[in-house]
Amino acid sequence: MNIQITGLTKTYPNGHTAIKNVNLEIGSGMFGLLGPNGAGKSSFMRVLVTVQQATAGTILMDGLNINEHRQKIRKLVGYLPQDFTFFSKLKTWEFLDYAAQLSTNLKKKDRLIKVDKLLDQVGLLDVRDRMANKLSGGMKRRLGIAQALIGEPKLLVIDEPTTGLDPEERIRFRNILSDLSQQDVTIILSTHIVGDISSTCHNMAMLNKGEVAFKGSPEGMIDQV
Ligand code: ADP
Ligand code: ADP
Repeated sequence: MNIQITGLTKTYPNGHTAIKNVNLEIGSGMFGLLGPNGAGKSSFMRVLVTVQQATAGTILMDGLNINEHRQKIRKLVGYLPQDFTFFSKLKTWEFLDYAAQLSTNLKKKDRLIKVDKLLDQVGLLDVRDRMANKLSGGMKRRLGIAQALIGEPKLLVIDEPTTGLDPEERIRFRNILSDLSQQDVTIILSTHIVGDISSTCHNMAMLNKGEVAFKGSPEGMIDQV
């Protein structure tokens, strides 16, 4: 997917401007959004996936203005928010099946095939019968990815997915995302950890106080500091 962001600004009702005049072009593959806490990463992502409206500026996804084509855009986008949590007392596979019932028209048999395929893709097939709320933190995050993939999105937007993960889970997570980005899914990943981006992303931007402080390749950024 090609995403063109022009003059994007988000000011909250309390007057705080979280994103200031951001101009970015994002192509296929994996794009990293780096920045410290409060930089505006979550605000940027919420606007991108149309759960929040920008104050100014435009976003074109494959030429479509996201404000004018919200329903269409939502079908193209999968989103994993930072505060994604489960309250459900469902088994892992049941949780995904429930999500699939809400967002697809598939019949039960096809849903179950899809659910197991997604579980396999994120390395959770072995624990499909475990209660979802009993999974480890890393596994829950991976289940979140599986859920975001149910609608077969062309764009996957993931907010700080590796926060709090141990190194092994972190690497596992990166590998899953790398695989996905090679299957024609554009991925935008936010993080405050340089290593999450340098090992996986071709392109990146660094946000600082709502402004783009750097854009280019991760190598280019590391050379600059
Ligand atoms: P990040 O994801 O990089 O931590 P956020 O987008 O969450 O950054 O926040 C950027 C700034 O905007 C922060 O100062 C935050 O407190 C503020 N902010 C976020 N959401 C709101 C909101 N709904 N209302 C007012 N200010 C907000
Ligand atoms: P992050 O961890 O990405 O910085 P925040 O903690 O800033 O995220 O935001 C968590 C939630 O709180 C979001 O829904 C955001 O909109 C809201 N929020 C953050 N800062 C403010 C604020 N200053 N005023 C109102 N809501 C806020």
